[in-house]
Amino acid sequence: ANSFDEECDYLFKAVLIGDSAVGKSNLLSRFARDEFSLDSKPTIGVEFAYRNIRVGDKIIKAQIWDTAGQERFRAITSSYYRGALGALLVYDITRKSTFESVRKWLRELREYASPEMVVVLVGNKSDLGQSREVNLEDGHSLAQLENLSFMETSAKENMNVEEAFLRMITRIYELTC
Ligand code: GDP
Ligand code: MG
Repeated sequence: ANSFDEECDYLFKAVLIGDSAVGKSNLLSRFARDEFSLDSKPTIGVEFAYRNIRVGDKIIKAQIWDTAGQERFRAITSSYYRGALGALLVYDITRKSTFESVRKWLRELREYASPEMVVVLVGNKSDLGQSREVNLEDGHSLAQLENLSFMETSAKENMNVEEAFLRMITRIYELTC
């Protein structure tokens, strides 16, 4: 065991969901390892990544699960959601269809996940403003309607990525610790 394990006060599981190619794996690699990749390798995703976060005087070990591309086949199973306290629900601001899928993902969350789960809606690829198909206001309105936190991010430019994960993690901490 490393020193992080010994210092860890809480362990949280959270999941990434959203349509294929919206940037889930790159958001996670940015958050966990500060890496970004131009290739999409949907079938070689890691199962999960860890990062330790300090909140006040506590250390939280966040275990973030990524899909291995199952979302393309609508084959995410209940075990993926089991025990998860938080989710980043990601769409791509340059593809309206991925925003329209958000309701489908929320239905799936309601079916499989705990009703108290902390969900942050994330509009990713904010660096591609010229190709935008989903307005910032549309993201805000949907989040408000569904009672979710909301943020636009860019995994590529490392904009708001840390903030989105931290918002989810600190909210889980406030609700459960
Ligand atoms: P996933 O299927 O949801 O895991 O999506 P990936 O993380 O594999 O990303 C799909 C594609 O979008 C890849 O080519 C990434 O390089 C690209 N991508 C991911 N995030 C961003 C971003 O913030 N900005 C831009 N411009 N491209 C991104
Ligand atoms: Mg992926």
